[in-house]
This record gives sequence, structure tokens and C-alpha cells, in this order.
Amino acid sequence: MPELHRLQRRAFLTQYGKGAIGVAVLGPSILAACSSDGDITLPATGVADPETAAVTPQDDAPETTLEAAPDGQQTAALRWERVNMGFVSAYVLARGSEVTVIDAGVSQNLPVFDEALSAIGASWNDVGHVILTHNHGDHVGGLPEIIGVVPKAKIYIGEADIGALGSIEAAPINDGDEIFGLQIIGSPGHTPGHISVFDADAGLLVAGDAINERDGLVLGPNPDFSSDMTQGNASVLRLAERQYETVVFGHGNPIETGGSDAVIALAQTLS
Ligand SMILES: [Zn+2]
Repeated sequence: MPELHRLQRRAFLTQYGKGAIGVAVLGPSILAACSSDGDITLPATGVADPETAAVTPQDDAPETTLEAAPDGQQTAALRWERVNMGFVSAYVLARGSEVTVIDAGVSQNLPVFDEALSAIGASWNDVGHVILTHNHGDHVGGLPEIIGVVPKAKIYIGEADIGALGSIEAAPINDGDEIFGLQIIGSPGHTPGHISVFDADAGLLVAGDAINERDGLVLGPNPDFSSDMTQGNASVLRLAERQYETVVFGHGNPIETGGSDAVIALAQTLS
């Protein structure tokens, strides 16, 4: 890839890709990190609190940047933002006017999602997909409220984790699937159906809880909350095979430079 193209892309990610949300809304239903409590129920009305579900105006929406694809076609660059709920994060990814939410976090955080969507010039109206990295309560607990706001969005979760969603309708996904141009990488071990999300063009990996970050270091899945550490360590090795500058986590701060190098260094301690 020409260096100029890389620089343009980096500049774009720098402008729109930084996790700048500093507001942590900690509701009373915060669960322990990586709780296996996956019990969630749809709200009785199916409609979220209109105050928290307010759609963000788009008056200051940034213009979409186009990049030349290798075949000469113009494709919209990926924009992303962290939905920082304190001890756990979700993410919003946009390409053009279409938005994918990755993970739902815990309940009572719709305003934090609102801010993240606004930061990438989007609103709930643009959300067509919700991809869940795994079925732990701190990643799916906010799902009923999100469904209340975007009832037509399609929900996806790793096939082996789908049972925990109860009556919520979700599509099973597996390694190698592609959603909205995003590659699904099976990364089991933290949970049997854990998946990570990779965008090769943007150089972005959403690791979920397959990898964690603490104090600038990347770590494997948390053994206290993981179902199979042998499998989890093998998943780190698989995630180290891709190339990406940016890697973001369910727990910890995003790494925006040298992401795959950091994961390779972690993998070398595990193999
Ligand atoms: Zn987890």
C-alpha cells in the first residue's frame, strides 16, 4: 500500500477515531467485570426511556471521507469511537452513513452511546447492526435498551454463545463470516462463542475480551472469568496473525499505534 494512502488513513483515524469520551455513567446495575451473568430480559414496553433515547442532532456531522480502493472504486473509510462506560467499553463503527454497534455494555448507558455516535457524525437512526463479542453480562446487559431504540437493527453473536440471549432474536456468527464489510474472527476461550471483529482496510481489531489492556500492556483473557484458557491463549495467537495499527478492548484503553506488534509480543509469551 502506498505510504501516502497510509498517512491519509492515519490522519483520518486521528481526527475521528480517538476515544475521547470521558463521561462514565455508572448505573446501579453495573455488574462485576466479565460477569457470566447473562440473564437479560426485554423491557416490558419494548421502548427505552425517551429522555435517554433521544436521537443526537447531526448538524455538526463530519463529512465522509472517501478512499480509493485497490480496484479503483471509492469506498467510505471506517470511523470508530469508544463507548467508554468506565470498567467496560463498547464501540461504534461507521462506514458512510451505516453504523455498527459492537457490544452493548451494561444498562443505563444510552447517553454514552449517544455521545459516541455523535462523535462519528451518526445517530441511532444509522445503526443497522449490533455485533456482540460474547455473552457476558457486562457486554450484553444494555442490549434490551438498544433494541428499544433501534428495534430493526440486526443482532449477531457467536453461535456457541447464542443461548444466553434468551428470547432476544440474534443471528449466529462464526469465524470467517463478514458483516457490513467487517471480518469475524473466532476467538473462543473467554467464552465458547467469543468472536473478535477485524477491519483490514482501517487496520482495526476489536478484540472484545479475548485480549485485555492494562497500563499500556496487552494481556490474554482474564483467567478468573474465562471458560477455557488453553483455547483463549490459542485465540491470542490467531489474533496475532493479522496486521493492524489499532486494537481496542472490552476492558482497557485502546492501543492506536503498533497494535498487532503488541499482540505478537503477547503471543510470544504464550506459545
Ligand atoms: Zn467477558
